[in-house]
Amino acid sequence: MEKLKACDGRAYDWVRARPEKHWAKSHFNVWLKCDMLLNNFCESFNNVILKARDKPIITMLETIRVILMKRLHNQRAKVLKFSGEVCPSIQKFLENNKKEASSYILVWNGGDKFEVQGWNGDKWTVDLTLKNCSCRWWELTGIPCVHATSCLFYRRESVEDYVDHWYKRGMSLRAYEYLLNPITSSKEWPVANLNPIVP
Ligand SMILES: [Zn+2]
Repeated sequence: MEKLKACDGRAYDWVRARPEKHWAKSHFNVWLKCDMLLNNFCESFNNVILKARDKPIITMLETIRVILMKRLHNQRAKVLKFSGEVCPSIQKFLENNKKEASSYILVWNGGDKFEVQGWNGDKWTVDLTLKNCSCRWWELTGIPCVHATSCLFYRRESVEDYVDHWYKRGMSLRAYEYLLNPITSSKEWPVANLNPIVP
């Protein structure tokens, strides 16, 4: 913030006037299990509906409905195909962490807590019961960070068991369990006796 202040006072004031929980990961709510600071989610949706956006309202809604119908089915088929408990992209992240986990020096307190030291002297504290690390990644995302992975290896425990339930197969199946039903062309829809919609 001091660096920002030196660079642009007005930008500093603008950011300062807003609650930290909206823009600083150090203040994010850890209950959400999401560290996204961007609106990529809306951007992705916007990109998908691009071909529908300039259509008349019913055609637009129909196009979006068909996109969703296909997507729900495709996503569900993907979940049914993978055999692991943790979703593939998260599993990939875990596998990368596993490769790096051996490069840390651990001090175990004999219970559920560890001191984890990196090659450059940086140090983090991990609590396996509270599922947190002082780097905050684990708390924010619900996915064990590389430091926690190192501790779990030390105790010969499965990292997958410590991933939050939001990233598990069962939760994905729940998200995609409702399929959209097919519908006939608009020629067969019941006619409503309403006034036409004014542009
Ligand atoms: Zn960490």
